[in-house]
Amino acid sequence: MASERVPLVAGNWKMHKTEEEAEQYIQALLPRVSSVSGVDVAICVPFTDLRAMVDSARGSRVEVYAQNMHQEAQGAFTGEISAPMLAELAVHGVVLGHSERRELFAETDRALAQKVPVALAAGLKPILCVGETEEERDAGDTERKLRHQVGEDLAAVADAELGAVVIAYEPIWAIGTGRVATPEQAQEAIAFIRALIEARSAEAGAQVRILYGGSVKPENAAELLALPDIDGALVGGASLDAESFARIVGAAAA
Ligand code: PEP
Repeated sequence: MASERVPLVAGNWKMHKTEEEAEQYIQALLPRVSSVSGVDVAICVPFTDLRAMVDSARGSRVEVYAQNMHQEAQGAFTGEISAPMLAELAVHGVVLGHSERRELFAETDRALAQKVPVALAAGLKPILCVGETEEERDAGDTERKLRHQVGEDLAAVADAELGAVVIAYEPIWAIGTGRVATPEQAQEAIAFIRALIEARSAEAGAQVRILYGGSVKPENAAELLALPDIDGALVGGASLDAESFARIVGAAAA
């Protein structure tokens, strides 16, 4: 079954790159990934770069994702962006529940339970991020945390639609720290997440793509991406350089 899932390598720029810097990046990235096959590629960019990146990547294999989205279509939510606004720009998807949004901006599972189905209904592919803190891992609470996040955040997604969600397992202690989960830790957590989805729908469990995120670099990508349940990577720091990101994409290619 695993071979039927096309891996996805997504670069999360976080709050980096002005439009001018983004243009330079995409012009460097496109030729480097144009001939790779068997892998989907996405860049998750700041709102202000979305229109330019959708235009510049049009017709290429690179998809453009936003990094957050509000669950309501419109309203008195100063500073927020809605699914119809993203869809009108022809953005392909959206990262939801990144640990930085959860920790720094009070993103809740309750909001995510609304955001994921709203994104799907708008034709946006959601990448739902889940993962435990170092304290939770040390306390043996990793599975409890993952069960809670996957259960709550996907509660309102119909079983038939679960396979269209991308889940990123991102142990918080590995994000931006240079500490990478061991292949065993990553495989174990991701297989556990897949089993949670399988418990709802065997078909969705086989379809759902589950990425690893946390200090993925060109040097460690191949080992992580070779693991049976890992269907790609969500890459932060190493995605900011087009050459380095393209090497990670190459590691996932068929
Ligand atoms: C991330 O931002 O989702 C991430 C995994 O960051 P990094 O690759 O820098 O650890």
